[in-house]
Amino acid sequence: MPLPKAELHLHIEGTLEPELAFALAARNGVELPYADTDALREAYRFSDLQSFLNLYYGLMAVLRTERDFEDLANAYLARAAAQGVRHAEIFFDPQAHIARGVALGTVVEGLWAALGSSEENHGVSTRLIMCFLRDESADSARETLEAARPYLDRITGVGLDSAEVGHPPVKFREVYEAAAALGLRRVAHAGEEGPPQYITDSLDLLGVERIDHGLRCMEDPELVARLVRERVPLTLCPLSNVRLRAVDTLADHPLPAMLDAGLLCTVNSDDPAYFGGYVDDNFTAVRSALGLDEQRLRELARNSFLAAFLADDEERRARYLAEVEAYDFG
Ligand SMILES: [Zn+2]
Repeated sequence: MPLPKAELHLHIEGTLEPELAFALAARNGVELPYADTDALREAYRFSDLQSFLNLYYGLMAVLRTERDFEDLANAYLARAAAQGVRHAEIFFDPQAHIARGVALGTVVEGLWAALGSSEENHGVSTRLIMCFLRDESADSARETLEAARPYLDRITGVGLDSAEVGHPPVKFREVYEAAAALGLRRVAHAGEEGPPQYITDSLDLLGVERIDHGLRCMEDPELVARLVRERVPLTLCPLSNVRLRAVDTLADHPLPAMLDAGLLCTVNSDDPAYFGGYVDDNFTAVRSALGLDEQRLRELARNSFLAAFLADDEERRARYLAEVEAYDFG
């Protein structure tokens, strides 16, 4: 049994495996520009960001109905459970679906059909986080938040993802204020390809409680000191960083230095179908490439539950943390 952990940085659209893509395409009468699953799996070995994004958004065409989103989420939750995930906070990108004619309600209710019964079916507790695409306008983000009002009992928080450079946090200040007023938790991707200032601005202008990625904080010692002092969790995704060239190789990843600096780091899978592995695959990869010992791995697992949005269920958090402490690496 893998180390118990929470996954806090996971895009549900990024869990679409070639087999499920073909099954959904057949069900919905969508023609995919690939001969078979092998050809599609070959395309998953993209070489740059643009080819990844083309594939990622292109394949979303197979997601049409509530049942499609339910099947997608159930497939992820089953894999996550097998990788030791006890709690998952799942991102989704409503604008990417609304833009191609799929209603927000279809997405949320479909995902919820899986998430709402995830504990019984998979032994995984869940939260749902709605992300704004930062390369879309602030108006579009505001409209999306407005459209989400009927579903706020299903949505724990908001996030900010997609192309970072040229789309600074300040662009989304008002929509984050509105989200806070609705009682939503706040996170944002920052400091993956964007500069450390985007991390600072996400904290100061957007009021985020966690930073997704954030590895470029290491370029700014004062920012590192602040993140340590304020115990701001960072949701790192090592295999994603290699595939999208944020680092050259896994051995170059700053994770050990970040842990040594006292940062509250977590390890996650981001878009696991595309980036070469699910969350425990990330743990296994950093363990061997970076030589992390059992104490460090246990720290990463502990951090994942400390950083989880479980303030409404501290008893559960305590139970998960006890599982981490009791874990025997064998
Ligand atoms: Zn991400």
